[in-house]
Amino acid sequence: MAGFLNGRTAVITGSTSGLGLGYARALAAEGCAIMLNGFGEAAEIETLRADLETEYGVTVFYNNADMSVADQVFDMIKDADRRLGKIDILINNAGMQHRAPTESFPIDVWQEMLAVNLTAPFLATQAVLPQMKARDWGRIINTASTNALVASPNVSGYTATKHGILGLTKVVALETIETGVTCNAICPGTVRTNLSEHRIDTFAEQKGVPKEEALADYLKQKQPYHQPMGRFITVEEIAAAAVYLCSDAGAAMRGAAFTVDGGWTAR
Ligand code: NAD
Repeated sequence: MAGFLNGRTAVITGSTSGLGLGYARALAAEGCAIMLNGFGEAAEIETLRADLETEYGVTVFYNNADMSVADQVFDMIKDADRRLGKIDILINNAGMQHRAPTESFPIDVWQEMLAVNLTAPFLATQAVLPQMKARDWGRIINTASTNALVASPNVSGYTATKHGILGLTKVVALETIETGVTCNAICPGTVRTNLSEHRIDTFAEQKGVPKEEALADYLKQKQPYHQPMGRFITVEEIAAAAVYLCSDAGAAMRGAAFTVDGGWTAR
């Protein structure tokens, strides 16, 4: 498919569903070759991969690396480099969440969250920077969150790692400031994906009402998921931010926290 990303390649972690898959579709629609990553049933992922190739006419690969394991992060980058020929765009998107008060937050979950949400993006960035700098072009995009900017109760691991990834984003942006490589974070508000679906289920259960009835309250409540716009942000709205960051028009965006949050952090 003809597009401004023809000849470009992207590795997108956590792209078998949700925002990651949205990024994959949006970049493929601009002609970018893609390396998918994430969990899921093998046959379903193969169908997804093949459908993306057919729909957008680009090459799409898949690597099943677990982002909580450092060696697998390195191996995924090596595999992407070998199969795509180079890596122009890296989207660190795989992420996990867990809700618990700080005093009872399980240490094993904390460690896993650090590994997936923060260490994996650090390692993948480390691995791709040399080639991006050598070609003087690159785009590193980290999916952060509104929780990179403001806190919510009972998500200490998530908030800490998302604040952390915004810090990493700014450092990498400064270290590449004189090059054609940019590094930015996208900070989405609430998007209806597997990750938020689980939180909506819990909310509906606590209210004792059917899920669809609980949605409006879920979006409007003041704490802890406040979403002033009163609707979910769409996957496409987040993916469009990534497309912009990959374009020439986005070249001056450096170390930004690109909020697409329905006004959450405007208060
Ligand atoms: P999702 O559950 O639909 O997608 C998560 C993806 O990451 C899936 O492809 C999953 O297989 C993959 N993944 C999870 N753990 C992994 C691991 N250890 N190794 C490799 N892949 C792994 O959820 P989503 O909402 O699309 O989340 C994507 C990112 O967006 C996350 O970083 C999340 O924190 C962030 N985010 C989501 C929202 C929201 O409202 N949905 C808001 C702000 C930020």
